[in-house]
Amino acid sequence: MSDCLFCKIIAGDIPADKVYEDEQTLVFKDINPHAEVHLLMVPKVHIDSLDGLGPEHDGLMAHMMRLLPVLAKQQGLSDGFRTIINTGKGGGQVVFHLHVHLLGGTELPGFG
Ligand code: AMP
Repeated sequence: MSDCLFCKIIAGDIPADKVYEDEQTLVFKDINPHAEVHLLMVPKVHIDSLDGLGPEHDGLMAHMMRLLPVLAKQQGLSDGFRTIINTGKGGGQVVFHLHVHLLGGTELPGFG
C-alpha cells in the first residue's frame, strides 16, 4: 500500500533499524521503545490488522509466531518476553499494517 508507513519501511523507502528479515517478514526496532528491547515484527505483505486475516495467511502467521521466541532469545531475553498486537482504534492501533510488538529486558507492568 503506497501510503502505509510499514510498507515504505519494507520497501526501503524509509529507514529502520532492522534486526531480522526473511521472505515473509521484517523485524525492526520500535522508534519509541517502551522497554530495553522493543521490536516490531511485520509481514511483508500488507494486512491492515488481525481483522484482515484469512485462511491464506495461516502459514505466514504460524511462521511469525514461531519466530518470536527465536528472536527474543537472540536479543538476550532468556527470562521471557511480552508480545502485543493492537487491533483497530479501540485496541490502540496507530499504524494499520499488522505488527507484533516484542518487548522485554525491562520489568513490564502486569495486568492484574
Ligand atoms: P501500534 O500502536 O500498535 O499501531 O504501534 C505502532 C508502533 O509503531 C509504535 O510503537 C511506534 O513507536 C512505532 N513506529 C512508528 N513509526 C515508526 C518508525 N518509523 N520506525 C519504527 N517504529 C515506528
